[in-house]
Amino acid sequence: MKIGKKINQNQKGKIGYGSVKKVLFILLLLVSYNALSWGLTAHRIIGEIAQNHISKKAKKNLKRVFGQESLAFNANWMDLMKSNPDYSYMWSWHYCTIPDDKTYEQIGTPPEKDIIWALNNTMGQLKSDTLNIDEERFALRLLIHLVGDIHQPLHVGNGKDKGGNDVKVLFFGKKSNLHRVWDSEMIDYQKLSFTEWTRMLDNYEKKEIKKLQSSTVLTWANESKMLRASVYDIKGKDISYRYIYEHKYQVQIRLKEAGIRLAGILNEIYK
Ligand SMILES: [Zn+2]
Repeated sequence: MKIGKKINQNQKGKIGYGSVKKVLFILLLLVSYNALSWGLTAHRIIGEIAQNHISKKAKKNLKRVFGQESLAFNANWMDLMKSNPDYSYMWSWHYCTIPDDKTYEQIGTPPEKDIIWALNNTMGQLKSDTLNIDEERFALRLLIHLVGDIHQPLHVGNGKDKGGNDVKVLFFGKKSNLHRVWDSEMIDYQKLSFTEWTRMLDNYEKKEIKKLQSSTVLTWANESKMLRASVYDIKGKDISYRYIYEHKYQVQIRLKEAGIRLAGILNEIYK
């Protein structure tokens, strides 16, 4: 509505550059949901699970930064910003590449940086206690999102097919690709809200939680890499009940692990 009004109001009858930029921004925003990240629901599930496991102190600090906004609410900010050219420098921060026959230590961080670098860097900044509140909000939005992304097995790519984006498949007969199936289609197919998912998944014992939270970013990436072999086991082009049945626990476990670990990091930052 607002954009249309602005275009009409342009006195010379031409569409102003600012308006074109805004329209493009919104178009790109709609398109960008199709690629490169756990979908909206997955990130919200991870945020909501984390919300259930943060300390009083962390809760208080998050309220100071975000007001009434929950972790789930802020979990997708980084994907929404993908369509804003001002943030194009962060595109490569949503994933990393570790070829099947290599370790991350062997290949190192690429010049454009990756998710492993971005997470360690962001956690370092948040722990340093040197950020003003705007910088802190920005860093937290990155952290909330990227802890999720690194747990999606295809966000740790093999370097051959853009994290499964080039692997064309049919999801119940509909054209798709393997990355999108993992980001959102296997989750959205269940037709559950993120709060219903959270109620179903959030059932770890204290001991398990402690174990999960005592791991590093590199461990999470290596776990995703390990899962990759079975992710590619599609036997033909069609993905439907069999594939979902064989992979649903992997999806659920990765969502849970991401949520619990996000809470652990937030508790550590605000201890
Ligand atoms: Zn992402």
